[in-house]
Amino acid sequence: LTILGIETSCDETAASVVVRHPDGRGEIVADVVLSQLDEHSAYGGVVPEIAARAHVEALDTLIEEALTRSGKGLKDMDAIAATSGPGLIGGLIVGLMTGKAIAYASGKPLYAVNHLEGHALTARLTDGVEFPYLMLLVSGGHTQLVLVKGVGDYERWGTTIDDALGEAFDKTAKLLGLPYPGGPAVEKAAKSGDSKRFAFPRPLVGEARLDFSFSGLKTAVRMAAEEIAPVSEQDIADICASFQHAVARTLKERIGRGLKRFREEFPGVAEPALVVAGGVAANTVLREILTSLCAENRFRFIAPPHRLCTDNAAMIAWAGLERMAAGFDADGLDVAPRSRWPLDQNAAVALGSGK
Ligand code: ATP
Ligand code: MG
Ligand code: FE
Repeated sequence: LTILGIETSCDETAASVVVRHPDGRGEIVADVVLSQLDEHSAYGGVVPEIAARAHVEALDTLIEEALTRSGKGLKDMDAIAATSGPGLIGGLIVGLMTGKAIAYASGKPLYAVNHLEGHALTARLTDGVEFPYLMLLVSGGHTQLVLVKGVGDYERWGTTIDDALGEAFDKTAKLLGLPYPGGPAVEKAAKSGDSKRFAFPRPLVGEARLDFSFSGLKTAVRMAAEEIAPVSEQDIADICASFQHAVARTLKERIGRGLKRFREEFPGVAEPALVVAGGVAANTVLREILTSLCAENRFRFIAPPHRLCTDNAAMIAWAGLERMAAGFDADGLDVAPRSRWPLDQNAAVALGSGK
């Protein structure tokens, strides 16, 4: 099976061609991503209207580029997969409408893919991970711990009740005068900082439910910075190191609880796996913490390559292939984009949050 994937839910325009071999193995034959970072950096965050326009301008060319690189034409595709949510509605409309048009014109079935499902299934494309497993998604828009039981079968065990982790990095960077995106800037500054200088809060640590909260941390950073203003370069480094330390300790406790719960619910799984996804998964300190946590709990720690952790179309194509292979029906051409679309419907009702 061969599929064309399209991703436009946030600030990356992407197209990819992925093949699923008869043995179930996936192969990325072309994968192009255009990041809109330059368009948004002056504003310190993603501007939805700019993003939508940039997707319109770039998408057709990117799709052609992906097809050219794959050495295949639309006639070789078994289906078209496009992200239809969750995300910024303007971008979703651009990508989904383009996917529909191609599907209609070429007579191929359309799969409207949930962006989160793309992240959730990536580890099966890269590492052939078997169900069930745990996935930690930490990006600019999401912070979730998800039980992945099968294609289309997810249980959200935890989510942020306020800011996403990437957002906390970005806001911390902004208030310290560091460049956007904040994650890499904070990580870099933290290298020469003292992580023990500030004792930042670790919200929800110790609670039985597996949710996250990061807005208090951001406020604590602001108060610390105001108290010692004007901040020197060393102060900034110390704040960043202390911030990252608080995040690492929080994740360790929250995820540690999740691993134990997985053990209790699935005692028969001999070699369980924790999979990470999202831009924040690039952070070396957090990776180290998770690696040692998994080792302690005898979990495999799986971190796909960075370009497949951040937004890309290969994961959307792969999710489409997984849905096809699992026997899911294609979507009608009247399918609508959804800015909010939780993977796990029950969790959505319980928490009232689509994030
Ligand atoms: P979405 O949440 O919709 O999937 P996004 O574009 O916000 O999309 P990603 O592109 O996956 O998310 O990741 C971007 C986020 O990752 C930003 O918040 C950025 O600051 C953060 N990030 C990137 N590198 C690092 C790092 N080394 N340490 C911490 N955070 C990082
Ligand atoms: Mg992004
Ligand atoms: Fe994403």
